[in-house]
Amino acid sequence: MSRLFPRFLGDRVRWGAVLVLFVFVGLIPPLAGLNENLNPDTSSRFQIFLGTSALVLALWAISYNLMLGYTGMVSFAHAAYYGVGAYTVALIFKRYHLPVLVGLGAAPFAAAAVGLVTGLVAQRAVRLYFSLLTLAISQLLFSIVFSWYDFTGGDNGISITLPDQLSDYTTLYYFTAAVVGICLLLMFILVRSPFGAALLSIRENRQRAAAIGINVKVYELAIYTIAALFAGVAGGLFVMYQQQAYPEMLYWTANAQPVVVSLLGGISTFLGPAIGAFIYVVLDNTISKQFPYQFDIILGAIVLAVVLAVPGGVSDAPSVFLRLRERFRRGEEAEKPPAESAGEAIRMFDVRKALASEAIQAEKVHSGKTLLRIEHLSRNFGGLRAVEDVSLEVKEGDRHAIIGPNGAGKSTLFNLITGQLKPSSGKVILDGRDITGRPPHVIAKTGIGRAFQITTIFPKLSVRQNLQYAMLAHAGYTVRPFGIADRIFAGEAQELAEAVGLGMWAGLPAGQLSHGDQRAIEIAISLALGSKLVLLDEPTAGMSAYETDKAMELVRRLATERFLTLLFCEHDMSVVFSTARTVTVMHQGRVLTAGTPEQIRRNPDVQKVYLGELEQEEVGA
Ligand code: ADP
Ligand code: MG
Repeated sequence: MSRLFPRFLGDRVRWGAVLVLFVFVGLIPPLAGLNENLNPDTSSRFQIFLGTSALVLALWAISYNLMLGYTGMVSFAHAAYYGVGAYTVALIFKRYHLPVLVGLGAAPFAAAAVGLVTGLVAQRAVRLYFSLLTLAISQLLFSIVFSWYDFTGGDNGISITLPDQLSDYTTLYYFTAAVVGICLLLMFILVRSPFGAALLSIRENRQRAAAIGINVKVYELAIYTIAALFAGVAGGLFVMYQQQAYPEMLYWTANAQPVVVSLLGGISTFLGPAIGAFIYVVLDNTISKQFPYQFDIILGAIVLAVVLAVPGGVSDAPSVFLRLRERFRRGEEAEKPPAESAGEAIRMFDVRKALASEAIQAEKVHSGKTLLRIEHLSRNFGGLRAVEDVSLEVKEGDRHAIIGPNGAGKSTLFNLITGQLKPSSGKVILDGRDITGRPPHVIAKTGIGRAFQITTIFPKLSVRQNLQYAMLAHAGYTVRPFGIADRIFAGEAQELAEAVGLGMWAGLPAGQLSHGDQRAIEIAISLALGSKLVLLDEPTAGMSAYETDKAMELVRRLATERFLTLLFCEHDMSVVFSTARTVTVMHQGRVLTAGTPEQIRRNPDVQKVYLGELEQEEVGA
């Protein structure tokens, strides 16, 4: 993801492509001069102007892609920050009579400041509603610029004149290229850093990102502000080569440009939008000349065709070609792992050693201290009491099962413990520390790992990255905007992948593995976080009998080897009785009873609850 170009031909060719791109950018002015000599009806000035506009568009689009491609946020306010940058340059020149370069220096800070404040507002909502709020913000900023006639000049805009040193087209081109180059370098360092890793994890799965300890909203606000900052630079450069700022720059439809450019070039690689920008500028000038009124229609058709044929954009076309060739050559699915690979983990399992430490551990548990204490915990959903006055204790090193029919409140209880839900009343105390109602990313840091009822991993990241990013978050490294994330903890992550039997697939996208193996990743993420307590919500749901056995053997082995405390809920009674040392039974939100598996097995009330459920199921069926 943090690649300049797709991984289609190995490192050397990719860096070669970057070099070619740089040389091409550097050669545009002499090439334009040459072209003018050969075809006297073309103007080199105009072509250099187009080159400048492509560079600025590339910067603007890549800054947009920090949100769209790297974090998964769709904003309609990015043009507004571009406009703020532009007006900063224009106003500082016009109203305060300072040099244009002073304005260019101030533009990113003005745009970032407006981005930060408006981003805080937009963040009151998520996803679609976030996008709608950015749209409203964009319209608001446009209206201010458009109607504040005395200050901004309203629809007349503001004109500027460049200092003598920059008034030459070629000089301005190289100046723009240098500024854009510095900005791209900074952004590239950012997306490869641990901070960039946190962004990718948010894009992949917000819930999982929070559960590994990432404060999702803070990171989203940070990248929103940083994107605005670079958009401000782009806007400032725009004013310099256009020598004018005008309110339409901020109009919400202007956001279509970075989106279209990103989609054309490809949002999954860093330089994709830059390629898109050059294609856009070329198309704009060839099509507009021939069909001045049909540009939007033709452009729309081209974007549609590109997105349908090469979803990764033009910069990804070679990898599509290679994938097709591969398929013809070797038949499909060459690299897929077999569905049942947990067997590898089981073979590594030393039964005798495990039994010995099992016995020691069981003893420790009985004398052990309380790791998690839940006191009178309740949660209502309207009139429904999903969890009601639940109190229980989980001893350190125990394997504590929560059982109960569907709708008993097990998942809700887990969500209350790990912060996805806030309790209506009651307390959650971990290791003597009150964690009631704290957000998930804080609770993850206190040492509770969690596997969700529906598997929650980062599907497009490799197995190794899934674990690595959890380690980065746990170590607090994700605040770092420098360094290469994929090189930190790579060895540790590989070892952990091996410990859960996934060593061979560590480089594959996690989403390609079997259901059981994805479950193992989720558990391994908890281990990567160094969690003392691991919550598993129906760890074997949806598994075959064979997969269930393997998965639970893995869980038992890890719990024994690493002295983990397990709290799990499970439907399958054979799983409960083969794994749990303590069982709590829930029914209709309340604790019915608790005890050893043997006591629970013999309890007539428990039998009644389960019998009742069976009868209901039979009637329902
Ligand atoms: P379990 O995991 O034991 O099957 P849950 O904790 O998922 O049970 O659900 C307990 C009860 O709370 C159910 O009746 C369920 O419909 C209800 N419930 C769970 N989550 C919500 C929610 N977000 N909003 C409203 N009702 C909910
Ligand atoms: Mg549930």
